Amino acid sequence: MAYERQELSAAAAEEQREICARINAVLGPGERYALVDTYGCQQNESDSEILRGYLAAMGYSFTEEEERADVVVVNTCAVREHAQMRVFGNVGALSAQKREHPEKIVVLCGCMAQSPEIREKVKRSYRVVDLCFGTNELWRFPALFEKTLEVHGLPGNRGRVFEATDEALVAEGLPRQRDGKVKAWLSIMNGCNNFCSYCIVPYVRGRERSRRSEEIAAEAESLVLAGYKDITLLGQNVNSYGRGLEGELNFAGLLRKINAIDGDFRIRFMTSHPKDATEELFTAMAECEKVAPHLHLPLQSGSDRILKAMNRGYTAESYLKKTELARKLIPGLVLTTDIIVGFPGETEEDFLDTLRLTETVGYDSMFTFIYSPRPGTPAASWENGASREEIQNRFDRLLKSANAQAAAIHKAQEGKTLRVLIDATNKGEYTLSSRSAGGRLVHLRGDASLLGRWAQVKITGSNTFALFGEII
Ligand code: SF4
Repeated sequence: MAYERQELSAAAAEEQREICARINAVLGPGERYALVDTYGCQQNESDSEILRGYLAAMGYSFTEEEERADVVVVNTCAVREHAQMRVFGNVGALSAQKREHPEKIVVLCGCMAQSPEIREKVKRSYRVVDLCFGTNELWRFPALFEKTLEVHGLPGNRGRVFEATDEALVAEGLPRQRDGKVKAWLSIMNGCNNFCSYCIVPYVRGRERSRRSEEIAAEAESLVLAGYKDITLLGQNVNSYGRGLEGELNFAGLLRKINAIDGDFRIRFMTSHPKDATEELFTAMAECEKVAPHLHLPLQSGSDRILKAMNRGYTAESYLKKTELARKLIPGLVLTTDIIVGFPGETEEDFLDTLRLTETVGYDSMFTFIYSPRPGTPAASWENGASREEIQNRFDRLLKSANAQAAAIHKAQEGKTLRVLIDATNKGEYTLSSRSAGGRLVHLRGDASLLGRWAQVKITGSNTFALFGEII
């Protein structure tokens, strides 16, 4: 299907803001609370910031207590079956509260809600849900919410609103209530054109569409002015940023543009696709002092046969060459990856190829997953020759290797001095957490007043998951 990039008009964005003001006026001055429960990836967290922005404009404050919330929004993830099951469990559990408080409004949105089958299931079996809309409808949440308020509580068969379209727009000018004051998500694009055979994202997030670099740079600048020090550029495949957008920068160019903004801040990005990670990108990373020397480059499998079945568009050798080039060009590069174990047709030999390649590359950390079929994707109907026990055994061996690699790399950091950004407080002996330029987690002792500050730290210890240091 041909895809034409379309932008939301300024008038349409303004109309949504007006609807928020109207809802606020209709609901009146009393206290009201909303809870936004987010599942899945950083893109969903970023979308939840827009949902909270809209709700705040409608006069809602936020709570973490479901019982207290007048509105519960569940922003869902369809990437893994486990997350989907949790969503259904948690939404089902809201029924008891709804019986006691029928005025409570339950909203289910995000990637799951984009699927017609899931919407049908929710309509039939989860009557607790009042409003259900897909990812493409996010920008018009106020209009859908207003419609829900109108039909909510109608006598008899209580009204409910279910909406999803295939029309994915690039939307600017939406309100946003951000989490925290130190780290910020900055969405640069949405959707994906790659159709990896196991992945549901292209079906629930639509085709790839980039925001204009001027808009992104303006948002980055406002974040820096507001005091944010760690900005993560988000997209399903950031390396293909700008593709199909006439006269636009590519991703390396975008990094350089944001790097030129005045201020002491770091630029991170995720996720990269190995087939689109280029020497030009690595050079930009090396030359831009604010760009973190961190590359999350999902390998998924080290077997060419499986990579082909996954439709990943690279071979084990081309992947390895890219990591070698990146290491050569970017001093102190931290490499992390994702691996899927037990993809349909994966043999012991294929698995050993993966294990060997990960050990050759040497990762700071690996996010390892057992393959989970997603209905609607090509791979979902493929036979898996390996038993559950075999797959679990492969997973355990990979995890052991991943932990050993991480522990060795972390051990080699001991004695070094790193510049870190203190970004969280902890309970226990190490009261602060921080991130190095490459994104390594460093636990520290210190006062909560240091939150959001840069610090030089001497690394005094390590384990598989983190470094430990002292502020100097
Ligand atoms: S690149 Fe592949 S795995 Fe990543 S979002 Fe696109 S289809 Fe999914």
